[in-house]
Amino acid sequence: MTISFKKRPARSLRSKLLGVFIIYGLSLLALLWAMQMGLAQQYYEHSMQKKCERSMSSISTLYSRSESLSYDVFSERLGKLAADNDIYFVVEAKDGSFSFSSTDTNSFGRLNFNSDRLINDARIMLRASAKDTINYTRPDVSGRDIMVYASFVESDYRAPVFIYALSFLEPIGPAVNIMRSQLLVVSIAVFVLAVIIAFVTSARMAKPMTDMSNEAKKLGDGDFDVDFKGADYNEINELASALNDSAAKLKSSDALQKDLMANVSHDIRTPLTMIKSYAEMIRDLSGDNKEKREEHLGVIIEETDRLAVLVGDILELSKVQSGADEFKTEIFDLKKAAEEIWQTYKIVETEGFDIRFEAPEEAVPVRGDEGRIKQVISNLVSNAVKYSEDRKEIRIYFERHGEKIRLCVEDKGIGIEDDQLEKIWDRYQRASKKSRRSKEGSGLGLSICSEILKRHKADYGVYSTPGKGSTFWFEMFTEKTLD
Ligand code: ADP
Repeated sequence: MTISFKKRPARSLRSKLLGVFIIYGLSLLALLWAMQMGLAQQYYEHSMQKKCERSMSSISTLYSRSESLSYDVFSERLGKLAADNDIYFVVEAKDGSFSFSSTDTNSFGRLNFNSDRLINDARIMLRASAKDTINYTRPDVSGRDIMVYASFVESDYRAPVFIYALSFLEPIGPAVNIMRSQLLVVSIAVFVLAVIIAFVTSARMAKPMTDMSNEAKKLGDGDFDVDFKGADYNEINELASALNDSAAKLKSSDALQKDLMANVSHDIRTPLTMIKSYAEMIRDLSGDNKEKREEHLGVIIEETDRLAVLVGDILELSKVQSGADEFKTEIFDLKKAAEEIWQTYKIVETEGFDIRFEAPEEAVPVRGDEGRIKQVISNLVSNAVKYSEDRKEIRIYFERHGEKIRLCVEDKGIGIEDDQLEKIWDRYQRASKKSRRSKEGSGLGLSICSEILKRHKADYGVYSTPGKGSTFWFEMFTEKTLD
């Protein structure tokens, strides 16, 4: 297996993060400056306008809506509103019968300007206007801008009135200048702080990545004892745990691979040694002795067969595992398939086996690759034969489990120890060390079965009692009918 690492990109994550942080900080400052330089005056005027509008509307409502409100109370409220908002109000009856202004209430005396002329102008403009409310801004004699609102208000309860509101628009230039110099100091401080924070944060964020990349390089060099450490972020933690899992799997697969190699070479060497020794024996000793020669040639043939089975199984397993051949997904009769296997094994009855086949009356339609499933059944029956000792009873039977059908192969043989039950499905695992060599197969049969069943998404398993026997099973979904 080769693990390749891409070259580091031209820009590291850290410098990229740093750049992003700095650009973000600079954009914020630019926005602040734009607000200060260009928009402060407009913003101030807009908020003053809103303030005047709100005040006008509350005075109109106060005047026109409430029957019980006395002029004294109204005038008092007017004064308070004027004081609170720094606005000069004048309320005068349309017919000129009364008039009062916010300074009359003694609560507002700060506006010291020629209001009469401004009110006069507003009165003329409002009367000339088709609208009930007008507003405009104009400089007073001292050159300061004054915002003027004039409104005509009718009421069910009292005389119609004109309401005027005058408010200074203070020049905000000097204030803006002070704020600007403050902003300069703040900007420098914020920028320096942003760079420091960006530096520290980007270093912290990039560190686990750098550590992980170093660990991954070790993994690539074949060191499986690596530890990918997480960080304070979920994404990094998830990556670290995924890499740790992969490293663990690589480690166990590497161990398995080495194990497999050791087993394969051992199992190939044994028959090869036998073949060589018996061939030498024929050459040196039994060449002229027909009986001995045939006996020795028999051993050579047997060992050659064993080698052929082993090599065949290794090839078969790698074929099934790699997914190189397509599995068929046809509907076939599992009962018929199992029966055919049973027929081929009936021959063992000559060795004293009682091999029984118990199936439902009707067909058992399932979907999959019939040839492969037959291979599984054959393997299970062959093992049942191989691992039966004196009680040579084998039973192939079916159990219905809801929508699934379970096929079981039961024997009364040597059984399997509990701690071996899981392992026997692994490559090269043999539960019984006791069994005679002639009984042994390649040790790959169940791994091939397990791969085939996994590819059929079929559940499978075994229950076994040492000394009493085992039942191997697998189950598949049943289809409604055969095609
Ligand atoms: P083998 O070629 O050794 O039979 P398998 O993969 O078919 O390889 O089986 C793996 C191991 O599982 C066997 O070596 C044996 O120890 C155990 N085993 C399989 N089938 C049975 C059985 N019916 N009874 C007892 N042990 C079994």
